[in-house]
Amino acid sequence: MPELPEVESLRALLARSVVGRVITKVEVREPRLRRPVRPQLAAALRDRTIRAIRRRAKYLLLDLGADVLLIHLGMSGSLTHRREPQGGDGVEPRSAGRLDSAVRLDPRHDHVKLMLDDSSALVYNDPRRFGLIKLLPRADLGAAEELKALGPDALSDAFNAAYLAAKARHRRTAIKNLLMDQRVVAGLGNIYAAEALFRAGVRPGRRAAALTPAEINRIVDATGALLREAIGAGGTSFRNYLDARGRPGRFAPRLMVYARAGERCYVCSTLIRSRVLGQRSSCYCPRCQR
Ligand SMILES: [Zn+2]
Repeated sequence: MPELPEVESLRALLARSVVGRVITKVEVREPRLRRPVRPQLAAALRDRTIRAIRRRAKYLLLDLGADVLLIHLGMSGSLTHRREPQGGDGVEPRSAGRLDSAVRLDPRHDHVKLMLDDSSALVYNDPRRFGLIKLLPRADLGAAEELKALGPDALSDAFNAAYLAAKARHRRTAIKNLLMDQRVVAGLGNIYAAEALFRAGVRPGRRAAALTPAEINRIVDATGALLREAIGAGGTSFRNYLDARGRPGRFAPRLMVYARAGERCYVCSTLIRSRVLGQRSSCYCPRCQR
């Protein structure tokens, strides 16, 4: 599932290639996403200029002036910028040239296409259809149900040791679940929560309230450093996440514990263990993490 680094990498790429472009036509081929794409969307987007692209947690926000197009990639979504003939029907994305994809996106899952005025297209592809595409008036953004409950962004200064210590106090929950709770801190999922805890030397199942100030500090520092490195590498590709040019992220080889249960720790050679926390498998090194 795309987390903060993947969405931020995508934002940065799209900011270079689609800001200033005008949406000329919208095709909704499959409206049944996590919530149905509204039938009015295509008409509402036509002739709108993409003025900026922002990110809030794992949401991408296309600034269209008075309105904002909110996009969430769900479990398996990708948003690619492709050069293809206007109309595009039946054209293999690969023939477009822009999409230099190592992993092919199945064109049957190209659910929404925004045609742009330079004959390119922004294509939303999502095999599992857990994503979201929704147009909101800019004035309503702060109150939007998707965004209003989000905690501070994991990369923001507001996510600091004093803040996390206050959130952890009196909480019986495992620290990993606290880090994945978007109301506490926005942007972390299973991959980066597990990796941040490895770097901090803290086991994922530790009770949040029992952490020492030094451990809280290490978790916050490790989270920031990890996310910045992952953004620099274009994020992590597991299964089918691809960036705006249809390329996988390059961070996966640097993951220390995620999805490595039964393999040896790169630091101490102990076998990586896994336990289930909040219905998610959580990998850790029993020696490096306490
Ligand atoms: Zn280890």
